[in-house]
Amino acid sequence: MILFSNISFQHKIFIRVDGVNFSKKVEELKLKKPYDERLINALIEASLYVFKYFNPRLAFIFSDEINFLFLPPLPFKGRLEKLNSIIPSIVSSKVSLIFKKELPFDSKIICVNDDEIYSYLIERQNEAWRNHINSYAFYKLLEEGYSRKEAANILKGKKYKDLHEMLFQKGINLAKTPAWQRRGVLIYKKKEEYEKKLNGKIIKYFRNRVIIDRNPPLFSSNNGVKFLREIISS
Ligand SMILES: [Mg+2]
Repeated sequence: MILFSNISFQHKIFIRVDGVNFSKKVEELKLKKPYDERLINALIEASLYVFKYFNPRLAFIFSDEINFLFLPPLPFKGRLEKLNSIIPSIVSSKVSLIFKKELPFDSKIICVNDDEIYSYLIERQNEAWRNHINSYAFYKLLEEGYSRKEAANILKGKKYKDLHEMLFQKGINLAKTPAWQRRGVLIYKKKEEYEKKLNGKIIKYFRNRVIIDRNPPLFSSNNGVKFLREIISS
C-alpha cells in the first residue's frame, strides 16, 4: 500500500499551511474584521517557531495562510508525509496556544522550479490583495446591515475599481490600509556582518538574523523580483 509518494530531497517546495474553517473561527474568537493584528501576529509567531526547528528560506503570510519555501536538501530527506504533517501541526499547536482554542491547520505541498518560485509568490500576493479588497467590502456591507448572502451577491462580479470607489464613498481608502494587509508579511533570514575583538584584532563574522518584513515590496515589480532573488539565492 502506498500512502504518499516521496519526492527527491533535491526538490524545491512550498508548504502552504492554511486555517481550517477559519471564517467560522474568526467569529468564535471575536476577532476584529476584516483584519485583526492578533491573528497576523499569531501566524508570525508560529512561522518563527518553524524557523527555529527547520530551515525554510522564507515564509509568506496573509489572511489565514503561511507559505514556507524549502530549498534542497529538504528536511526528512523530502519525505512528504513527514513534511505535510509536522509543519501544519507546529503551526496549529502554536496558534491554538496563543488563542487558547483548538485551531486546526491543513497543508499542501507544491513542487516548484526556479521560475515558479517567483510566479508562485506573485500569485499568492495577488490573492492577498484580492482578499484585502473583498474583505473590506464584505464586512462594510455586513456592518450596514446586509446579510452574508446579500453582501456576497452585491460583490459578485464587481470590478476592483467599483469596490474601491464604493468603499471610498463610505470613508475607507484602500490605498491607505496597513501594508501587511495589502501585501502580506514576509519572513526571511538575512546574513549580517558583525565584528568582534579577539587578541587585540578586529575580526569579522556573519550571523543569520530572522527578519520580519511587514512592508514587503510588490513581488511582481522589478524591485520585488530583485529583493526576492537576493533572499532566495543567498
Ligand atoms: Mg483558510
